[in-house]
Order: sequence, then C-alpha cells, then structure tokens
Amino acid sequence: MSDYKVKILEITNVTHDVRILKLEKPKGFSFTPGQAADVAINKPDYVEQKRPFTFTGLNDWDYLEFIIKIYNDHNGVTKEIGNLKAGDELIISDPWGSIQYKGEGIFIAGGAGVTPFIAIIRNLNSENKIGNNKLIFGNKMESDIILKDEFEKMLNKNFRNILSDEKVEGYANGFITEEFLKSFVDDFNKTFYICGPPSMMEALEKQLANLKVDASAIVKEEF
Ligand SMILES: Cc1cc2nc3c(=O)[nH]c(=O)nc-3n(C[C@H](O)[C@H](O)[C@H](O)COP(=O)(O)OP(=O)(O)OC[C@H]3O[C@@H](n4cnc5c(N)ncnc54)[C@H](O)[C@@H]3O)c2cc1C
Repeated sequence: MSDYKVKILEITNVTHDVRILKLEKPKGFSFTPGQAADVAINKPDYVEQKRPFTFTGLNDWDYLEFIIKIYNDHNGVTKEIGNLKAGDELIISDPWGSIQYKGEGIFIAGGAGVTPFIAIIRNLNSENKIGNNKLIFGNKMESDIILKDEFEKMLNKNFRNILSDEKVEGYANGFITEEFLKSFVDDFNKTFYICGPPSMMEALEKQLANLKVDASAIVKEEF
C-alpha cells in the first residue's frame, strides 16, 4: 500500500456537522465508486491515527473529495479535521473497501453511511444509468440530511428520507421497519446496499432476511 500526501484545496460546510474537503489528486490516482482510503492528518500528533473515509467525487474530476462528519464530543481525528484549513495536508492510502455497484437496487444509508452511495449514485447519474435505483436515507433530523437537493435531482421519487428524532411534514418518522421497506420497495429480488452504524445494520439485516432477501444480495459496510 502506498501513502500519498495531499493538500487540502478547500473546505465547505454541507450540514451543521459535516464538511466537504476538496483535495489535490495525486497523478494517476484512481478508485472505484464506493471505495474508501485510510486517512491521517499530516501533523505530528496525528500522523499515526488513521481513519477510513470514502471518496465521494468522480474519477474524472481533477481533485479528490471527502465528505466528513465531525464528532466534536470527543478528541478524535474528526474533531481535528474540523479545525483544518485550506493548505493543510492529509496522508491517504490506496483505495480499498467492500461497497461496489453490482446492479440496480435499493441503497439504504444511515447518516454519514451515505458517503459510498454518493460516489456510486453520482457515477450512475454521470453515465445516465440511474434507472430505477432507490435511496432510503435515515437521519435524526432534517438538518442532518447530506446533499438533499442533489439526491432529489438525481433520484426524484426514488429518494425517500426517514427522520428518527423529528416529525416534519413530507418525511417519514421513526426507524426503518419492514412495513416502511414494503411501502417503498416494489421488488425485493434486487441488490440491497446498506451502510450505517452497527445497530442500524443489525436491524436492517434481520428485516431483509424476514422479507426473503438472500444474504448474498446484500452489499454492506459498517460505519
Ligand atoms: C470503510 C469506511 C468508510 C468511511 N467513510 C466515511 C466518510 O466518508 N465520511 C464520514 O464522515 N465517516 C466515514 N466513516 C466513519 C469514520 O471513519 C469515523 O467517523 C471516524 O473514524 C471517527 O474518527 P474519530 O477519531 O473522530 O472518532 P473515533 O475513532 O470514534 O474515536 C476516537 C477515540 O475516541 C473514543 N470515543 C469515541 N466516542 C467517544 C465519545 N462519545 N466520548 C469520548 N470518547 C469517545 C474512542 O474510543 C477512540 O479511542 C467510514 C468508516 C468506514 C469503516
């Protein structure tokens, strides 16, 4: 595995606790949409602290992009990423990861677990291959939804939000249930792509098994 030092070109806010980092792209660097890299901050106290983040841009962009949720409640790496500025450096590994597009299906994400699907759905959109792919995006509050407008544009009616901690008109409320899945998914003989925190993944895998989705039809990554 190689390591690459890359300069941060720009940092912008996408929600109250999520940042978009635009980075220099090493010459010849390429990844498959859905893949991540081990990332460290190039500062003495942080170079050894690697954390995985997903490439959310497209391979033909001339820069790399990460979309990173900042956890300010403890002194981890993301808190320090929240303090970085353009000109600071990250060290990134070669790409790796288990999420890859395997055909039309249903993407189900919780919070920052949507990042692998950002790259995949953007890539499908750029190739005019969105088809009947669907995205279910679970968040606590409406203000937590990452790239809502872009997903609405790309997926239209095939984008469904569910909020666990807030009742807002036009959004489903609560956690994802089998009933909720049945109300949105017309064909369970498709590939299911799931990515989110462990508790959500566990619940979803049980629900999908009850709905007769074969484990081999599930592509997953735990965040
Ligand atoms: C393949 C993969 C791809 C990913 N891609 C992305 C992505 O694109 N974007 C994104 O936002 N996230 C992504 N993640 C999740 C991301 O890696 C984590 O959010 C990140 O590693 C958190 O790092 P951290 O150092 O801030 O916190 P942690 O690693 O959780 O914690 C650092 C230290 O703090 C301790 N700690 C944890 N919680 C608390 C607490 N509440 N109070 C006190 N101490 C605590 C821990 O025990 C640990 O010692 C991905 C994860 C995986 C597996």
